Amino acid sequence: MTIKIGIMGYGNLGKGVYSAIKQNPDMELVAVFTRRPKNSIKIQEDAKIVSVDDAKEYVDKIDVMILCGGSATDLPVQGPEFAKLFNTVDSFDTHAKIPEYFEEVDLVAKSNGHTSAISIGWDPGLFSINRMVSEAILPDGKEYTFWGSGVSQGHSDAIRRISGVKNGIQYTIPLDGAINRVRSGDDPNLETKEKHLRVCYVVLEEGVDKNKVEKEIKEMPNYFLDYTTEVNFITEDELKLNHSGMPHGGFVIRSGKTGFNKENKHIVEFSLKLDSNPEFTASILVAYARAVFKMNKEGHFGAKTVFDISLGHLSPKSSEELRKNLL
Ligand code: NDP
Repeated sequence: MTIKIGIMGYGNLGKGVYSAIKQNPDMELVAVFTRRPKNSIKIQEDAKIVSVDDAKEYVDKIDVMILCGGSATDLPVQGPEFAKLFNTVDSFDTHAKIPEYFEEVDLVAKSNGHTSAISIGWDPGLFSINRMVSEAILPDGKEYTFWGSGVSQGHSDAIRRISGVKNGIQYTIPLDGAINRVRSGDDPNLETKEKHLRVCYVVLEEGVDKNKVEKEIKEMPNYFLDYTTEVNFITEDELKLNHSGMPHGGFVIRSGKTGFNKENKHIVEFSLKLDSNPEFTASILVAYARAVFKMNKEGHFGAKTVFDISLGHLSPKSSEELRKNLL
């Protein structure tokens, strides 16, 4: 039996989910859903494209709908809307609004007997797991997260939605001095802006005021306000030529002390170096779709974060097979 998957939204993440499904023999793509005219979507191979308005006709044909919309404006609407019809997985990453989003999706999913994994990806996601586990093990310690160097899709998406912006990309760059101090076990107190620089490349529509757009970016709460942000205006050609890749990565470090006199120091580090952020994130969403499918069959309804989903549920292997691989 295969797990039947729907893809809601065909941007970078949607494409990544399609290619990831092909690497998982226990999964099958039923259809890609889009808000755009179906014939405007360029898709590889033979996938079926369906208008979002017809999604309700697929209620009995899809086990898990993977929501691939942006966090800024798509998911706040699509998360609760589709948790009513399907089991869902999404990558909502507006950190400050996650508790509120959880409540909304939870209410709808529970009252419809669905399971919805929210805020899945690497941060939030795999990084959240590593931060939580390291803190549980080393309560006497300090935790640091560095992102980059790389393109942040959430921040790039937020720039692109500003009125007058034609296109744009944002790089998050960790500052070497800060990283070296943390790795040396110095336990420095670092302000948000001492850890990272945010560099934006923006293409404007004709006649738009650069200063107004720069101010709007730099003052955007939850995204840029607390950082040192550099805004560069470039042409569409320059953007295509020099900024078309989507690498990313980062690391989570916890430095902790144990012993009666806190005499022993421990550094725990988890790191990622990704050629393609959307393809890697999509691969995580697909693994969590499997977990959502299993949890729904077991009667665990409502919204779930990475903290509520057991690691074994992510694997196509049975519990017995997994136990054999403990060592
Ligand atoms: P995109 O901008 O590529 O796509 C978002 C949506 O835009 C699509 O689902 C699509 O929906 C719509 N869209 C409209 N016009 C176009 C067009 N011309 N081309 C492509 N899509 C279009 O965003 P990403 O896929 O790069 O990122 C989505 C979200 O993923 C980000 O906002 C971020 O929040 C999240 N993310 C989370 C991570 C984590 O670690 N938790 C890591 C990386 C990303 P439709 O087809 O319906 O028009």
